[in-house]
Amino acid sequence: MSESDQKDFNVYVQDDIVGWVRASTPGGSSRGSGPVTITTANGNEKACKYDELLPVSQKSLQGLRDMTQLEVLNEGAIQENLNTRYHKDLIYTSVGPLLIAVNPFKSLPLYTPEVMAKYATKAMRMLEEPHIFGTAQYALDRLNDTDTDQAVLISGESGAGKTEGTKICLNYITQISGEGSGEGKRVAEKIMASNPILEAFGNAKTTRNNNSSRFGKFFEIKFDEHDKVLGGCILKYLLEKSRVVHHHTSERTYHIFYQLINGATAEEKERYGIKTQSDYYYLGNRECTDPDEEITGEEFLNVRKALGGIDVTEDMQQQIMKILSCILTIGNITFAVETADSCKIVNEDVVQKVATLLDVDMTVLCKALTERTMKGRGSIYKISLKKDQAEDARDTLAKELYGSLFDWLVNQINAQIDTTKGKRTMGLLDIFGFEVFDENSFEQLCINYANEKLHQQFIEYFFKLELGEYKEEGIDSKDITFKDNTECLELLEGKMGVLDLLAEECRIAAGSDGNWLTKLAQGRGQHPNFNQGKFDRDAVFRIQHFAGEVPYAVRGFLEKNRDTLYQDLQLLLAMTKNNFLLDVLKAGGRCDLEPASPKAGKSTGRNSSGPGTGSGLSKMVGAQFKQQMQTLMLKLSKMQRHYIRCIKPNSKKVADDFDGRMVLEQLRYSGVLESINIRQAGYGGRCSYTDACMIAIGDSALDMTHEDQYQYLQRIMEELKLPTAEYAFGKTKVFFKQPDGVQNFAQSLGA
Ligand code: ATP
Ligand code: MG
Repeated sequence: MSESDQKDFNVYVQDDIVGWVRASTPGGSSRGSGPVTITTANGNEKACKYDELLPVSQKSLQGLRDMTQLEVLNEGAIQENLNTRYHKDLIYTSVGPLLIAVNPFKSLPLYTPEVMAKYATKAMRMLEEPHIFGTAQYALDRLNDTDTDQAVLISGESGAGKTEGTKICLNYITQISGEGSGEGKRVAEKIMASNPILEAFGNAKTTRNNNSSRFGKFFEIKFDEHDKVLGGCILKYLLEKSRVVHHHTSERTYHIFYQLINGATAEEKERYGIKTQSDYYYLGNRECTDPDEEITGEEFLNVRKALGGIDVTEDMQQQIMKILSCILTIGNITFAVETADSCKIVNEDVVQKVATLLDVDMTVLCKALTERTMKGRGSIYKISLKKDQAEDARDTLAKELYGSLFDWLVNQINAQIDTTKGKRTMGLLDIFGFEVFDENSFEQLCINYANEKLHQQFIEYFFKLELGEYKEEGIDSKDITFKDNTECLELLEGKMGVLDLLAEECRIAAGSDGNWLTKLAQGRGQHPNFNQGKFDRDAVFRIQHFAGEVPYAVRGFLEKNRDTLYQDLQLLLAMTKNNFLLDVLKAGGRCDLEPASPKAGKSTGRNSSGPGTGSGLSKMVGAQFKQQMQTLMLKLSKMQRHYIRCIKPNSKKVADDFDGRMVLEQLRYSGVLESINIRQAGYGGRCSYTDACMIAIGDSALDMTHEDQYQYLQRIMEELKLPTAEYAFGKTKVFFKQPDGVQNFAQSLGA
């Protein structure tokens, strides 16, 4: 349908499949009461109510670069405007200060040095299309002009383009501010080298993204007084360790494992007993059959080159390969039931290989995998592990080694780039977006909690911005309020809230997921954001998040929160003769090893240690994450923030396919629509005096003085008999209560 045909429609109506579509009402009005029969753009008649319809924006058919310039700003207009632009390969669009980036899933010539140069000067930037370079440069300008630390926050769902966006930003910043010679250039190179390393060890193929980051990161770049890059620091959040030992058949584990088996030399393979993909249980015991999944040896060489770039020596690289090979071998250890309460190792030869790679005693390793030392009532004793418990212990060992290795790498990068000398800081946040799956667990709770925290700041930012405009325009805003997400956050992180009660339950030896839920329901059952599910084996509770209600299955919460490396395994690792491995374990925070004495148990006093408790107690994941988030928020609150919302246009990961409904959902999750609601909580529509006069009398309005325009508009409003509560005059703009106020004003004038 041509653009002029589209113009015949006056409303948007919600469609289950494609989101908002254009339609027309019989009278041509978007407002009214009672039922109405509309005709949609594809010729269907539909009965609905006026309050289900939204007025259309004609400008959205042009695809405006800043959506606040649309004459009506609503969900339909935004969806349509983004769609128009997307099909012209214009993937970046702004909504005031916010940048929306729609993933093109194809290579566009948008990041060349020539394009970069266009955004480097302020005068030119203003004329250019919105661009992530523009956001980065604006943040750099603010850093220089205001002496305030800056932060670029990139969010969106998996596969939306956060990590690519972060890299584009980093590249821009290091190119613009890291040029020249000496320290700046050296650090910039190291910062760029950290990307392939973090991606090899922290990314994996998932159903939603072939290169999905399984951790969150905050990259801080530090600048000197001449605004040159001086150093940096990476903070990482929640690496998905469980992926090391288990992944869905259509997904994969971390890239580095495939790179290792495809890229290690014959000699290295021999030295560390590296085999092929189908030989490893943790790699799914399968051949690589999908050409998309093929990993060449070259990738491994690139990672090694990058490791060299952050001073990980050849010797250390060999040690890393040894640990990786060890992790894969651990996965091949199998157990068989011995008695109802015990098990035995089936393949001792594999355990021997692991012992050699870990540099520990084989018998101690066997015992640590099949027995557990218990403390209680003043004595120490050993119990046998059942088959599934031994399998858990085996997997925990592998996860722990990997998690520690990842931490070591992050520390290594930081040791190379961190500096105490930096004068100003620019932060880049690439963190998981709001998640809701069929089954949601502890990880989703943490992720969604992080998103609530970020959302709170986001809303605050927009609300302040909006109030700032009213203030500037001299408009009374004391009655304008907006509902934020404080209540939900209180439920999650408040005293005796979800995380608090979880920690409490984890401290109890006999604590269980079910008991935790009971306590949660008792204490928080009346909370408006809490909804208790059924009490059965798969007990579920629901939390009303800002982005929607999420059901959480309680099974496994305690264990995931405790993240306990059984003491026997800790002690085993502490016995290694390999100093590099000890360094790695230290990086992972697993070196607070204590002898197995009754006093050593970190008991709360109410209960002695028992199964599932142990020295992992001081490191509860939820509490640690909560603290990390609070620290991050504090940091961010002192920075000027710039928001980039990444949108995934379709779930097929293909180019030129815009799924309106999916986009709309992400706009809701990401708070883009909420930021518009904030605007509409006060005055939903607005335009400058000049624009308003032009609607009435055309171009001659341009010759009027500001005072004349004001007088003229005042008179028109009176003539139109618009209720005074419906509009307000600011210093330069007329504000309308209704989002389509400008449109109605134009209609009343017959324009
Ligand atoms: P996750 O949360 O899973 O880590 P993400 O938001 O970080 O997801 P990315 O890995 O950045 O997603 O992007 C997914 C894929 O989309 C990329 O591998 C790339 O193929 C494509 N892509 C993202 N951004 C762009 C872009 N600006 N231009 C071209 N392709 C892009
Ligand atoms: Mg990513």
